[in-house]
Amino acid sequence: MKVSEALRALEAREARLLLAQATGLSEASVLAHPERELPADAEARFLEFAARRARGEPIAYILGMKEFYGLPLVVSPAVLIPRPETELLVELALHQGFGLALDLGTGSGAVALALKRHRPAARVVGVERSAAALAVAQGNARRLGLEVEFRLGLWFEPAVGERFDLVVSNPPYVREGDPHLGEGDVRFEPRSALVAGPDGLESIRAIVRGAPAHLNPGGRLLLEHGLGQDAEVRNLLRQSGLEDLDTWPDLAGIARVTGGGLKS
Ligand code: GLN
Repeated sequence: MKVSEALRALEAREARLLLAQATGLSEASVLAHPERELPADAEARFLEFAARRARGEPIAYILGMKEFYGLPLVVSPAVLIPRPETELLVELALHQGFGLALDLGTGSGAVALALKRHRPAARVVGVERSAAALAVAQGNARRLGLEVEFRLGLWFEPAVGERFDLVVSNPPYVREGDPHLGEGDVRFEPRSALVAGPDGLESIRAIVRGAPAHLNPGGRLLLEHGLGQDAEVRNLLRQSGLEDLDTWPDLAGIARVTGGGLKS
């Protein structure tokens, strides 16, 4: 493939990002100097990136980077690529007062790190079942200079006997066999971060079941979920004894986060 062909096959913004990555220049510099000749090694890198993109690989995995809530995060195929709709979860969490917060299924560490950045005095714990993902989260914490306590394990297992003011999670919530799994970026993301049983609610059920024993009086649970799952998630929270149930829409108007609290 020639550079000119590769450029035509990419969207303008993606071409700029990949050129910047291949050359080590800023996006602005790439944009300002279209006449600049590409050194041979940068050209080879750019063509490799363009070929990977043409096979559908997410731009975030090629760059190895994704911005979330203003934080530049390293991402790899071991972690879900942080989504803009998950920023709603962070925003709602930051509206709560908390001294001790737990992020379940932290992945790249996105939610836990954003909470710590904006509540530096709080203690934030992030739990992750995948050791490879946990290593990505720990690397992000180190690079960003944010002290989040990361623990390996499934949901509340590494927090036996502990209670928190706030529990947040963006768990897997896609149904097995959902056609969405065959499209776009998600084809390259870890299935374990996306799929949660035949109705997509298996992980949410496990988290809600454990929540009352891990919340302080007056503490709250906030869960991200998928389109059309909000009524069932509220039911689960109610059955678990949580109160003050609420659901919030994301920027696309889709009911995306549901929360409830333990009586104070
Ligand atoms: N929102 C993601 C998607 O639709 C799913 C992320 C998740 O399951 N937590 O691809």
